[in-house]
Formats: sequence, C-alpha cells, structure tokens
Amino acid sequence: MEIKITKTTSPAQMPPEDKLGFGKVFTDHMLLVDYDDKQGWHDARILPFGRISLHPASTVLHYGAEIFEGLKAYRRADGGVQLFRPMENIRRMNNSAERMSLPLMDEQDMLKLLTTFVKLEESWVPKTFGTSLYLRPFMFGNDESLGVHAVHNATFMLIASPSGSYYAEGINPVSIMIENEDVRTVRGGTGYAKCGGNYAASTRAGERAAKKGYSQVLWLDGVERKYIEEVGAMNVMFKIDGEIVTPKLTGSILPGITRKSCIEVLRSQGYTVNERLLSVDELLESLRNGKLEEAWGCGTAAVVSPIGKLAFGDEEYVVGGGKIGEVTQKLYDILTGIQWGKVEDPYGWVYKL
Ligand SMILES: *Cc1c(COP(=O)(O)O)cnc(C)c1O
Repeated sequence: MEIKITKTTSPAQMPPEDKLGFGKVFTDHMLLVDYDDKQGWHDARILPFGRISLHPASTVLHYGAEIFEGLKAYRRADGGVQLFRPMENIRRMNNSAERMSLPLMDEQDMLKLLTTFVKLEESWVPKTFGTSLYLRPFMFGNDESLGVHAVHNATFMLIASPSGSYYAEGINPVSIMIENEDVRTVRGGTGYAKCGGNYAASTRAGERAAKKGYSQVLWLDGVERKYIEEVGAMNVMFKIDGEIVTPKLTGSILPGITRKSCIEVLRSQGYTVNERLLSVDELLESLRNGKLEEAWGCGTAAVVSPIGKLAFGDEEYVVGGGKIGEVTQKLYDILTGIQWGKVEDPYGWVYKL
C-alpha cells in the first residue's frame, strides 16, 4: 500500500508533558484510506490534521457503522519508540469490521499505516514514564445513501494524541458500582467488537454512577443479569480465596489485549488463572465473607486499575483494605516495565520502530 504524505506547513508545539491529559491534543497529521467495492482500499494519504467533510446521508451518521482501536506508542528508556502487540489490535479491528459488515484490511497493510504514521509523528511521543502517544485507528461506513445494507464505501482513519500519565497522582484504587439496570451488550450482539455504539449505549450508566460518586460501573451479562462481564471499558479480574478469576469470553465481553497479557504474565509466573463464569452472587458472597482479596480492571489506558470499593444497591464493600494488592501491583510493574522498555521483554510483545 502506497501512502502519499502531505506535510503540514504549520507544525504545532507539544504541551508540557505534565499537562497533556487524555485525548485533547492531537498531532500535526492524520491518515485516511478510502474503500469502495470496486477498488478495495485505496488512496492512502497522510494530511495535515483537520476537519473532514461527510455527506449528510453518510452511513455512519445514521446507522452507526463505526469501529475503532486504541493502542499506544511508548518512548523507551533508551529513547527509541515502540508499540505493544500491535498485531493483536490489527486482528481485533478486522474482527470488529466483520461483525459490523465493514470491509476488512490486509494485516500487513494496516501495520504499515500504523508504523509509517508513528514514525512521521515520532516527536509527539512524550518522554516521561507513564506518558505515551495514544493511537486511534477507526473506520466508518460512508455510503452516501439511506439504504440499509452492508456498506460499499468506507473510510479508515488514524489520529494520534499525546497523553499524560494515567497515574500522575499515584495509583489510587477506584470505587465501582455494580450496574443492575442497563446492560452493555448481549451475547449475539456487538460486545466483542470495539464499536462506537457500545460506548454510546453504556454512557448513561456511567453518568449515573458518577453522580453517586463511583468512577465506573461493573457490568452484568445482558441475558440473565447474573454474571460479571467488565468494568466500565476495561476487563476485570479478581483474586478470590487465592484463585485468580476473570470472566470467560462469551461473546459479549471485549477481548482485551491487556486482559490477555495479564493472563499470560500470571501463568508464566506460576499463577493459576481461571477464565470462567463468575456470578454476582458469588462475588457478593466473597465480599461478605472477606474472601475477595484483590479486584482490578485492565485495559490499555490504565494498564491495571485497582478496585478499592464495590457497591451493590445499598451495600458497599471495601476491597483489599482499599489498597492496591500484591498481584495487581506485580502486573502493573511487569507490563509497564515491558511497555516503556525498562525491562527485558521475555514474551516478544514489543514492536520497535
Ligand atoms: C478497549 C476495551 C477494553 C480493553 O482492551 P485493551 O485491548 O486491553 O485495551 C475492555 N473493554 C472494552 C469495552 C473496551 O472497549
């Protein structure tokens, strides 16, 4: 895939690294690729960052045909830049595309788009440990008609945002509310796809939880409202009476790359990790009898996020004394060490640019 590059004539300045926040500042360029049934993916181009124009009947605006990915470019301790398991994001993007009837893209082509773009924007990868250049590939259906069918025209884009450290103020355990009303998705639905619609549908519960002082919701399955699925937009893991448990991928759970990496790290360190159904009753029981030792969310943004409090209806429980647990801390240290190139990567996960 040829990529035509038009450089900006007015490059911007990166804000101070302690003032970056998340997703507010964008790099100088953006990448676009068009798709239509006749030509397939074509016209890959990098342009100065700016607004895009859409036909008012564009599929994405009416029927929500949109998927995305989220990964980071990390500044290694030696000054170089690397990605973390990018092929996992690429494969997941194609799985999401398949679910949403959007066109797939050749894996090596997508990798080339990512690496070419990151190399061009290399100066936007911040240097402080914990900061990163957040990469947001996304794709949307772009037929200029209101007919409902698999799309014949689509656009792939990539934008990037230098992001601050998630834990600039230290790793503080979060308070989580078990959501009993809304569900995120159902089996047979779009839960395993990273699509914008899943987020649109889960915002209401998140807002309600925030009003009550909780930072995220813990989702239950959409069929029986019985089994634990995810926490906010992260996967979730528990240590109950010595057993490490994470909900098994039933189709309504997003198969997180951090989840997969946590499982692989723990197993290689001799821990047993069980991917199984975990009912809310079992979880509540473990809270009541003090057997829940640790709970944490995991995802690219936070890496791991310890859960210090869990609420269900009027009941509220403190988890692990409200402090980060031993396994959670270990995962944080190992994963961030590999991602920021502070320790050897024994797994072959880093992709140096
Ligand atoms: C992206 C995402 C995750 C985490 O996936 P990672 O690949 O680890 O970043 C978990 N749950 C949902 C709903 C997500 O969208």
